[in-house]
Amino acid sequence: MTDFDRTRALFHMPAGVIYLDGNSLGPLPLAATERVASLMTNQWGEMLIRGWNQAGWMNMPRRIGDRIGRLIGAPEDTVVMGDTLSIKVYQALASAIQLAAEADPKRRVILSDSGNFPSDLYIAEGLIGALDRGYHLKVVEPEAVEAAIDDSIAVLMLTEVDYRTGRLHDMKALTAKAHQAGALAVWDLAHSAGALPVDLAGADADFAVGCTYKYLNGGPGAPAFIYVAPRHLDSVRPALSGWLGHEKPFAFDLGYRPGDGIDRMRVGTPPVIALAALDAALDAWDAVDMADVRSRSIALTNLFIAEVERRCPSLTLGSPRDGASRGSQVSFLHNEGYAIMQALISRGVIGDFRAPNAIRFGFTPLYIGEREVLAAVDILSDIMDKRLWDVAQFKQKALVT
Ligand SMILES: *Cc1c(COP(=O)(O)O)cnc(C)c1O
Repeated sequence: MTDFDRTRALFHMPAGVIYLDGNSLGPLPLAATERVASLMTNQWGEMLIRGWNQAGWMNMPRRIGDRIGRLIGAPEDTVVMGDTLSIKVYQALASAIQLAAEADPKRRVILSDSGNFPSDLYIAEGLIGALDRGYHLKVVEPEAVEAAIDDSIAVLMLTEVDYRTGRLHDMKALTAKAHQAGALAVWDLAHSAGALPVDLAGADADFAVGCTYKYLNGGPGAPAFIYVAPRHLDSVRPALSGWLGHEKPFAFDLGYRPGDGIDRMRVGTPPVIALAALDAALDAWDAVDMADVRSRSIALTNLFIAEVERRCPSLTLGSPRDGASRGSQVSFLHNEGYAIMQALISRGVIGDFRAPNAIRFGFTPLYIGEREVLAAVDILSDIMDKRLWDVAQFKQKALVT
């Protein structure tokens, strides 16, 4: 048995499904069902409020933060869990703007790119509006980011892997360039954590955030994480200054004093049940090496691209061809992409659609192998050859695409 046969057995996969959407919502880890049931019955049920101390609920955001830290090259005590990713983007960006303003109050530009996820851009817009201090969000094409870094930039805010195309930014080089220009760098790892090796310390990132329901399989709405570089931990203001980020939450002081280190990035009561599911999901990573996950992911995506291009000539590759420049996902473009994806899903091949024309497939070596890749391409080429997508039923847009 290989390591990947072992990890495959850790997940529930419905019969007849080839799941190529773990980049959007990871599948159910069998251990999560049991862990959550046990928490409910034995902890919430029996301990009631005593669970916060007796079962260690209050420390879960830090303990699980350290587990995720090991997957993204973050030292102990620099990662904490809580809230959703959009909230953590707000917090990281607000904190970065504050540090940048202390260093050089003249800078007014937040630089991002058009490959960033809209929520990150919306959050930046909202924050800048609320600050009302003349900041402005500059959005350039992904290829133009490097050249746009100059001494007007306060904060560089990027998502490492483009959600639509899978294009991978060079986090280390862009962070170095930002630092040379006197700016701070905030990285979103939504499509990186659990997808490829990340080395936050090595890249010298200032802040990083990410969600845990994609490649980390924490379940729908699983809490997000935030990383703060050790050099900023004692000076950063958390922006969302909730009571659990206070130095002494249970002193119930009327004024806010930031907690020790990364604790200050906590906001409110942790989602204990969701954290228990995530904690169980993270066990899968104990059995594998991220470098192996990466080489296997590149092999699977290369195979998929080669087979689709050979068998489905009407689809255009929408992702970088070079595996080293790509995350763990592949997109193909077609004007009828939505209907094609619906036809695929009706045959058990689950990917997703991203407007305007991308059908997107995630490859997660923990539970996907060559057999699934080849079977998915068989079905895709059947749908394309026979135009099986060309029926009204597949063109009706649902709420979630
Ligand atoms: C998935 C994703 C999000 C989603 O944010 P939520 O607050 O968890 O809904 C945000 N940013 C990026 C880059 C993403 O890929």
